[in-house]
Amino acid sequence: MATRRQFIQSLPAAGAAFAVAGHVVLDERPAMAQEAAPLEGHFHPKGKAPSIFTREVLKQARATLPFADKKDFEEQEKGFIAPMKELKIMADAGHVAWDMERFQFLEKQDEFDSIHPSLLRQSVLNNNYGLYEVIPGIYQVRGFDLSDISFVRGKTGWIVIDPLVTAEVARAAWKLFQEHTGEGLSVSAVIYSHSHGDHWGGVRGIVDEADLESGKIPIIAPRDFMEHTISENVYAGNAMNRRLFYQYGLLLPAGPHGYVGQGLGQGVSAGALGLIAPTRIVEDAIEEFEVDGVKMVFQNTPGTEAPSEMNTYIPEMKALWMAENVTSTLHNIYTLRGAPVRDALRWSKYISQALYRFGLEAEVMFASHHWPRWGNQRVQEVLRGQRDLYAHMNNQVLHLANQGVTINEIHNEYKLPQSILDNWFCRGYHGSPEHNSRGVIQRYLGFWDCNPATLIPLSPGDSAPLYVEMMGGAEKIMAKGRELHDEGKYMHAQEILNKLVQAEPQNQAAKDLLADVFEQIGYQQENPGLRNSYLAAAYELRSGIPQGETVDSSSPDVIRAMSTELFLNFLGIRMDSLKAEGMRFTINLITPDNGEKFLVELENATLTNTAGFLADDPDLTLTINRSDLELTMMGAKELEAQIADGTAKIEGDASILKKLASTMVDFDPRFEIMPGTKSRETGLAKANPYEAVPRETIAE
Ligand SMILES: [Zn+2]
Repeated sequence: MATRRQFIQSLPAAGAAFAVAGHVVLDERPAMAQEAAPLEGHFHPKGKAPSIFTREVLKQARATLPFADKKDFEEQEKGFIAPMKELKIMADAGHVAWDMERFQFLEKQDEFDSIHPSLLRQSVLNNNYGLYEVIPGIYQVRGFDLSDISFVRGKTGWIVIDPLVTAEVARAAWKLFQEHTGEGLSVSAVIYSHSHGDHWGGVRGIVDEADLESGKIPIIAPRDFMEHTISENVYAGNAMNRRLFYQYGLLLPAGPHGYVGQGLGQGVSAGALGLIAPTRIVEDAIEEFEVDGVKMVFQNTPGTEAPSEMNTYIPEMKALWMAENVTSTLHNIYTLRGAPVRDALRWSKYISQALYRFGLEAEVMFASHHWPRWGNQRVQEVLRGQRDLYAHMNNQVLHLANQGVTINEIHNEYKLPQSILDNWFCRGYHGSPEHNSRGVIQRYLGFWDCNPATLIPLSPGDSAPLYVEMMGGAEKIMAKGRELHDEGKYMHAQEILNKLVQAEPQNQAAKDLLADVFEQIGYQQENPGLRNSYLAAAYELRSGIPQGETVDSSSPDVIRAMSTELFLNFLGIRMDSLKAEGMRFTINLITPDNGEKFLVELENATLTNTAGFLADDPDLTLTINRSDLELTMMGAKELEAQIADGTAKIEGDASILKKLASTMVDFDPRFEIMPGTKSRETGLAKANPYEAVPRETIAE
């Protein structure tokens, strides 16, 4: 069970229990007499109704967006075979792994004054929950997870594409499929379209260990798949997991004033994640071979939506699988949880190549999120629109950057052309034009706007007190902040209130007013990641970061997928350099069962490792099979115990391992983001010093 999930499960339910969570200063007297009253029916006791300004923004959107275009709804419903009757899918561990009940409110009203109409539309579309025919021989189960699972009829059985995030929901999808369409045939092959966890984590729900061992079921994946499955989120894993609380709104209950879905799907399932390594890697740019008697053409698209990803064309069926490269949204060039910025131009070019290689004849296009597109004209329309979307973003942002527009201005300057915005499938339900345009500049020019005042600036907490002083103190800022809030000038209000909160983290009235401002900005957003981030910050400013014990334990499959070098690199990140000052030693690490060796050095308060080398005169030689080392990496058996029972052999100064262990730090999965939101207790369980702690595998 992963940290984030256990943390979520440890939280009190929404409603009454917020009194418990709100230990910070929930009962503080409102700062100003005219403070807006809490909203009845809001999940938070301090939650506010959307203002007239917010309602006006949403009204404008309703009036100007292309709601007459119903194609998505027709395509989303087409081929419907059977609904999933149970709204909840249970995890083997006993908790709820998947819950569609919490999204039923979306169907009860045509509009909400606290949800952007475009986001509402997307979330209603994502409420599809059942089995669908794509064309005879291709089926999808949708709405069981963030992603879709697809089944293609092979000669002897079913080829499964992208088996969701966790085993329980994948198993439930397979069961539903078999009840109606599967003809009792077994899985004959598995294809992972790319390296993100929502495209492989549920594999153990659909294949038996025995079938795998016999090699009967090939597992096919794009080039460098294993290298990227977990490496993307190990080094900065704790930071990314914390940031997911914002991007994915993990603390927000589903409801009109909280979480309304994630754009790609309604959320991420909370069952058991597993990983089975692929047995067949598609290495070439284009490769063609039969999978269970079905001819498939694979197109590697590295460095697009994921570092390892591929599209697949099935000529006999004229069916084009666009992985996550073309879904019904503008995807992330920059992802708010944090990741290296993606290459919009390269992404666009791979779409264009797919268009000319497959799309001129394809009659259906399907993908790992959302719903298919039927008819060659529609396939081409969507491919062309998406190609131009990413190319425009790359080109026009750089066009502006070349005229001096900076990373701190581009989101206010860059606009997509209306002809692109009129396509629902190009709107920002995962990426947004705002944060993606900043991402493009970050990719090419980095964070600096070239103004020396921002080159090595003061930290916010150090600069804010000067602002507060010069602005005449907290009272004046509160009065002006209130005025701006009451005028609907939320962006201006956040500018000054943030300074006050940074300067006075314990000023609950300031935090509450900033939360009110964030909440209105959140309600106004079309993009769920932006909405969630503002609402999550509002939540934490009002209630503080919820407490509760967190426990780390990692999926053994994921640890096995972590290379020893990646593990050693991560130890270098876990090490507190201050604790290592003055230490100096050399370790030879040998793992005989896989023939690897590493020279590990601690010098200059820095831990490094060099694969393939050994020191001539090491201070310590540690010999342990990689398979045994994995037990230590997953926290199941301490290194000391491995040595004590002879599993690991050491030669030299044994005290070195203790010294190194003493420098290892556990990262707090609830570090503070907004000032003054953290309680004094961390409740952090102590990890094994040599545990890998990769945290949650991130879906996208
Ligand atoms: Zn995905």
